[in-house]
Amino acid sequence: MSKKESMNTNTSAVSEVETFNIDKEENFSEWFTEIVKRAELADIRYNVKGFIVCRQWSTIAMKRMFDFYEKELDKFGHEPTIFPMVIPESNFQIEKDHVEGFNPEVFWIDRAGNDTLEEKLILRPTSETAMYPLYSLWIRSWRDLPLKLYQSGSVFRYEGKSTRPFLRSREFWWIESHNVFQTMEEAIAQTREDMQIAYNVMTDIFGIPIIYFQRPEWDKFAGAVHTYAADTLMPDGKFLQLPSTHLLGSNFAKAFNITYTDQNGEEKIAYQTCYGPAISRIFGGMIAVHGDNNGLIFPFDVAPKQIVIVPIPKKEDIRHLEEYCIEIADVLRKKDYRVKIDMSDSRPGDKYYFWEMKGVPLRFEIGNKEFKKKDITIFRRDTRERIIVSFDKLVSIVADIGKAITENIRNKAQTKFDESISDANTLDELEERINDKKMCKIPWCSIDLDGEACAVEIKDQLAATVRGRDMREIDAGVISKKGEKCFICGKPASCYVYVGKQY
Ligand SMILES: [Zn+2]
Repeated sequence: MSKKESMNTNTSAVSEVETFNIDKEENFSEWFTEIVKRAELADIRYNVKGFIVCRQWSTIAMKRMFDFYEKELDKFGHEPTIFPMVIPESNFQIEKDHVEGFNPEVFWIDRAGNDTLEEKLILRPTSETAMYPLYSLWIRSWRDLPLKLYQSGSVFRYEGKSTRPFLRSREFWWIESHNVFQTMEEAIAQTREDMQIAYNVMTDIFGIPIIYFQRPEWDKFAGAVHTYAADTLMPDGKFLQLPSTHLLGSNFAKAFNITYTDQNGEEKIAYQTCYGPAISRIFGGMIAVHGDNNGLIFPFDVAPKQIVIVPIPKKEDIRHLEEYCIEIADVLRKKDYRVKIDMSDSRPGDKYYFWEMKGVPLRFEIGNKEFKKKDITIFRRDTRERIIVSFDKLVSIVADIGKAITENIRNKAQTKFDESISDANTLDELEERINDKKMCKIPWCSIDLDGEACAVEIKDQLAATVRGRDMREIDAGVISKKGEKCFICGKPASCYVYVGKQY
């Protein structure tokens, strides 16, 4: 129906909906661009390049994602804090590797009102240099440790690469957790806890399959001893980096003078870690991983609306159906479910397409048959199956189906992820498999700086990157099999690394 017709017949915009129907696997890039627009996730027309407006549908989901992540951090003894968004230049300059790493991405403020600022400010690209001068004042004795704080908010990076809503923008929304300990061992244990939190939230609740890697030496966070980062795989076979955890050791503590008096009265340098799950990017990864050719699919607990109720009237008589829909919605809203009743003038079929495209996990179809029997026909977005349930059993059945939906989409994504892992024994094989949207696990000489030349070779030849070693293999002591070689340099392999294209 054209826009004009729909206005003439006084129906809402919803009735203009056509089926989404873009092949996600074949045309992921187009799929992503279109779904962001049609599902009203973001508006990219804001007139500053690389900055997007998040619309309600994505914002509600991301607020829930923040909430899940923050609750998990709280559970592990972290506490929230709020630091300023601006950092004075003198703070930013303190740790030299950090400055070097972030300088090209910094937004500067040098004027306020009619005044030129005495000291230039930066918009935080990350908050080490905002928080650690205060940590240095707060931490006096071993009794003040461990200190485990996080803040939620946005950070700003002048990205050179082309930007993409949620996946890469110049402002993004994240949680950053900054932790201080007495010993390196405690700091290392914290990095493992961060990984566990990532699996608990990202995989269990958001359904996103990940592998946590130790990044190679040449690809770590500016100023860190080690960087660990979780990657998922996008439908076009490219790695997307999700949370990263940095073992800072005492690098920043030395630069920012974060010391404490130990149990024997001696002054000691502290050890640190930081951790940064970027919720807006995780949201982008989540919709990319779960969506299908009809549009979005949400994990049940994250969905902005979990249930849409659609009355299916015969002729003009809709009043009794509407009353029944309200009765159903009330009973579910009392249990905190997010429910929408779609009473617009659109045809039921158009409503179906629209809410499927928006990814609402459950649709209730309410016609005269359902009304008479006090039944509800439930359509599941993920499996596209219909079941009929009686009103009395509704609450417990919705709870069960909700769990089943999240489990189903999580398992489906995990299976696809696991099946995408391939091996390769030559550069040609590696190229072939990467072009076939696989991630490759290959024997490798070293993830220390010795291995950098081989990674450069892979980058030059295939535009692919070495993601690092699987942390589960590091912690289980897995090394390469005897006789295996790095097929780039021919030297004996010391480990396995994953290689693929990167988002
Ligand atoms: Zn090598």
